[in-house]
Order: sequence, then structure tokens, then C-alpha cells
Amino acid sequence: MKAEIIAVGSELLLGQIANTNAQFLSQQLAEIGIDVYYHTVVGDNPQRLTHAIEVAKQRSNLIIFTGGLGPTKDDLTKETIAKMLNKSLVLDEEAWRSICDYFSKTNRPMSPNNRKQALVLEGSCVLKNEHGMAPGMALTVDHITYMLLPGPPKEMKPMFIKYGRPFLLQKRHVHEKIVSLVLRFFHIGESQLEAEIEDLIDAQTNPTIAPLASDGEVTLRLTAKHEREEEAKRMINEVEQKILARVRPYFYGYNDETLFSKLLATLKEKNKTLAVAESLTGGLFLEEMTALPTASTVIAGGVVCYTNEIKENVLHVPKEILQTEGAVSERCAQLMSENVRKLCGSDIGISFTGVAGPGDLEGKPVGTVWIGIATEQGTKTFALTLSGDRQAIRMRAAKYGCYYLLQLLY
Ligand code: ATP
Repeated sequence: MKAEIIAVGSELLLGQIANTNAQFLSQQLAEIGIDVYYHTVVGDNPQRLTHAIEVAKQRSNLIIFTGGLGPTKDDLTKETIAKMLNKSLVLDEEAWRSICDYFSKTNRPMSPNNRKQALVLEGSCVLKNEHGMAPGMALTVDHITYMLLPGPPKEMKPMFIKYGRPFLLQKRHVHEKIVSLVLRFFHIGESQLEAEIEDLIDAQTNPTIAPLASDGEVTLRLTAKHEREEEAKRMINEVEQKILARVRPYFYGYNDETLFSKLLATLKEKNKTLAVAESLTGGLFLEEMTALPTASTVIAGGVVCYTNEIKENVLHVPKEILQTEGAVSERCAQLMSENVRKLCGSDIGISFTGVAGPGDLEGKPVGTVWIGIATEQGTKTFALTLSGDRQAIRMRAAKYGCYYLLQLLY
């Protein structure tokens, strides 16, 4: 199948929203082995939409639309397609019932155009909308499959996963199982990671290996297809082992894990409590950790010691150290971690001090960061030179804190 995604909506062309639906659908289609060759965006205009469909029909045999299924006049996706395919729009009883139920339950008055949302292309397979009103639909005419999905991502995504994707798999008579696994890496750039496993990437067919870099991290998505799920899993495992044999020191987790969730799980597993002293990160590290459920089992607490007075008065970093070596120094990071550990009575203390920018501090350039980790066995300090803007430096420092602590815990 050669697929094209047509996103309908003038707000996309005006730059008011980003076309995240196309991104999501492309990822989903790649996972089930369908090649996407084109993304098209068109406004709420029937002539231009008709033209976009004419073009798509010449080059694709699967056209997926998102948007324009709503009740208002400018929602015209299915009307335009119906006209082009010479199909009528018929009432889908089930969709109509659920729209009526919604209005009676919420005690809101229904307007005549709400009925429009329950109209579907005659002969189409209706894709139920369990998170909104407009149903989706799919139909094949002259060897081209048209799939219409709603615009709001919170409706479109679950509809595609539950109904759209199985429809496409069945259409392709695919009996294969698709298994994918994401490996997450930190402290290694995308190009370095790719260079380490270049031969594996070059040789990939099944499983496929797809690298992606974002937020200072790199992921590899491994996807395998096989009629037996167990075999697909075994194939993934084999490639995973080959990859990890080369880059294990940078690997930290799977799928949706984050450095923070991995650290929380590891602290729990090792039965260790943690206290935090944050200058540069101003509470960011604790915020990330405490956003996770059950954080209270291992996170004792912390101090946001943003000024030198708080470093001195609350964390007992001697004035002389602050005056001679500075707040952004190895010695200060060391004392902050040791003293917060004592103050909170925890097994481990971690500290963050540095220069987030935009200007230099104490004659030290933007991106200079010191992290201290104090444990029963002693204190370790880590120097970093980070790049990026203020927010990126703060977040990277917090992630490095997780990374170094994870390394110490293993
Ligand atoms: P509704 O019933 O809400 O009108 P609809 O199917 O007609 O749904 P649109 O009116 O085109 O969809 O879009 C509704 C909202 O969905 C948009 O305002 C936007 O927030 C979101 N949306 C639409 N298309 C996209 C897209 N391609 N990517 C991300 N979000 C989108």
C-alpha cells in the first residue's frame, strides 16, 4: 500500500496548530509496514480539497483524511468525498443514537446540524467514535481505500488504534503479528549511536531499527513482523542484545520509561531514600520525581537553595567556600549534597549547581554545571558543560543527575 495523509483544516495552514495527526498516523502506519509517501494539508475549501484528492488518487491507494467531520458548514470532508465518489450520505443509526444520548445526558439542546455528524458514506465501514460524536469511516472504491477520521487528536488516535488499524491489517490480509520495542539512551548523540551500530542499521529488514533524537536523548525503535508473536519477540530480543553489546553504558530503559521513572524504580528496588539540593534547577528535579506516583516512598525532600544565603544558612556551605571557589564549584556541589543528605536523614543526597544563562556567572560560562552525589560510601562530583538555552540546560542537568545516580546504584 502507498499511503497519503490529507489533513483538512484552515487552522493548520494559518499555523495556529501543528499537524500532529499526520505525525501520529505516519508512525502508526510505519509500525504496520505501510509506506507513507505524502502528507498534504488543505484548508476548509471544497474546490481545493477536491483537487488534493484528485492528485492523491494518482499516486496513492490508501488516502487517510483527518478533520472536517464536525457539524458546522466548513466541515466538508465527507460531503466532498461523497460527491467525488458519487456516493450518498446515509444516517448511521448507532452514531445517531449515541449523539442523542450525549445530548440528553448532558441536558444540552441539540441543533439540527448535529444530525449531520451521524451521516456516513453509503457502503462504508463505520469506525466508532468512543470519545466524541462524529464517527469515522473507511471504504474502498476502484482499488483505492479512503479512511476518514475526526480532527481532534483525542478522538482520532483511539479510533485509529481500535478500529482503523485493524481495518487496514485485514485489508492487507496481514496475519503477521507486529511487535515493537523502544530502547532509550542518554549521554550519547544520535550520530555517535548510529555510528556504533551502522552495520546493523544497514543490514536491517526485519526487525527494522529506527533512531530518533529528542530532548537530549536518543531512542531506537525495533519493529519485527512474524506470524507468531513469540518469534517476533525472539527476533527483537536478538537485535536488542547485539545493540546493547556495543552501547550498553548509555542504555537506561524501555518504551515509555523516563530517566526519572527509572531512577524512582531503582531507588525502590535498592531500598534507598533520596534528598535533593537544587540551585541551578530550582526545584525542577524534585518536581519531575514527585510527579511520579509513589515517589514519597523514596524521596525524602529537598532544599531549593537558589541564593548564597540559603546555601550558607540552610545547607551550611561555609561563606569562605562561596567567596573563594564560588557557588558554581565542585566543593559547593559536594557540600550541598552531603549536607542535604544529613539534613533530611536520607541514604543519598544529590545536588545541582551551575550557570543556566543567559549570562555568565562568577566568571564561569553558561552551561557550566556541577552535580554532587553523597552516599554512605563517600561523595562523587561530576562536571558538565551543557549547551542549549536556559530551560534546556536546567532539564539536561536534572537528567544527568538521574543518569549518574543510576550508574552509582548499579
Ligand atoms: P469537530 O467535531 O471538533 O469540528 P472535526 O473532525 O471537524 O471535529 P476539525 O474541526 O477539522 O475536526 O478540527 C477540530 C480540532 O481538532 C482542531 O481545532 C484542532 O484542535 C484539532 N485538529 C484538527 N486537525 C488536526 C491535525 N491535523 N493535527 C492536530 N490537531 C488537529
